[in-house]
Amino acid sequence: MQTSMLTWLQRLVQIPSVTPNHAGPKALTPGEAAMGTYVARVFQDLEADELVYDPVLPKRDNVYAIWYGQSPEVCLLDVHMDTVGVEQMTIDPFGGEIRDGKLYGRGAVDTKASLAIALGVIEEHLASGKMLPYTIMIAATVDEEEGGLGALALTKWLKQRQWRPRTMVVAEPTLCQPVYGHKGLVRQFISVHGVAAHTAQPHLGQNAIAAMSHIISALVAEHERLQHLPPAGLGHGTLTVSLIDGGRGMNIVPDHCRIGIDRRVVDGEDVAQVAADIEAICYAASPLPVTVEQVIHANAFFQDPTHPWVSEITQYHANEATIAPYGTNAYAYTDLADCCVVYGPGSIAQAHTADEWIEVAEIERAAGFYRKWLLGAE
Ligand SMILES: [Zn+2]
Repeated sequence: MQTSMLTWLQRLVQIPSVTPNHAGPKALTPGEAAMGTYVARVFQDLEADELVYDPVLPKRDNVYAIWYGQSPEVCLLDVHMDTVGVEQMTIDPFGGEIRDGKLYGRGAVDTKASLAIALGVIEEHLASGKMLPYTIMIAATVDEEEGGLGALALTKWLKQRQWRPRTMVVAEPTLCQPVYGHKGLVRQFISVHGVAAHTAQPHLGQNAIAAMSHIISALVAEHERLQHLPPAGLGHGTLTVSLIDGGRGMNIVPDHCRIGIDRRVVDGEDVAQVAADIEAICYAASPLPVTVEQVIHANAFFQDPTHPWVSEITQYHANEATIAPYGTNAYAYTDLADCCVVYGPGSIAQAHTADEWIEVAEIERAAGFYRKWLLGAE
């Protein structure tokens, strides 16, 4: 079997794998099941030494393939199988058409190209008849575009196996720049509970909106405080009050007010501590009872950019390591590998778009680095 990376990519794009919460009628069969089945078969055809189905959600398994090399040191690729929705697309999402040096379709750039490259490189390796220098693991994961549960399952699996990869790539379109960090996330709903009364006699009530105004002021002050801390590797944390609702009518003292907050977390901060600190600020600021509902906790991803492997990538591509303004599966991968970067061909600007595409030249560019990384090619 000899297939070019472009043919692999066309085949992968032609298999719908829309993450279920994004799926409308055009998504055909939602979820990663068909992709997982196809990818597992290809891994077998490519003579993987080990094939693992790691159940994450019903009919949504991560699929891992391992090829043992001369060294037990592991090179790990995490490549998510799911894509965002296709309802707004202006091209055939599952066409995989190649036109003017670009391959079109949902997942082309985010992030099936990286999987196609890995399959192509393994295929080249088989044709060469040589031994692999390192052990290669490809983790085709589920649920990246929604909850990130595939990444958590992979983390758990590696820890159970006591495997610490030497190098790890989290596949996302970065224009072949190694991304060494992105901020983490804490999201909470904060509710103030008051007592309703007629607004003609407001002293009989307890105004939840007025109490919430104290909390909002305290959270705005907390954001300002964060801006005056010495910057971390990822800069400064931020705190945004992003949602608000409350009250029942113009003539009723509001008994309820709720806000949503989005706190971006930098390296060195612990999300559990950050969440507890925000709660404490709210309790201290409000004269009325407060409840807090946690929505999301995800630590920042930060890799020391001076690691030699990061330099190897930047030297290979003559580019620079950078940080990303968006989040990835790497939320879950803090200190999982000796060195972990987010990396892949194509631009995030084409991800999630109505006419998603990847430049064919970008695929070959990243493939060169993959050959060096996985096969030790010079
Ligand atoms: Zn992605």
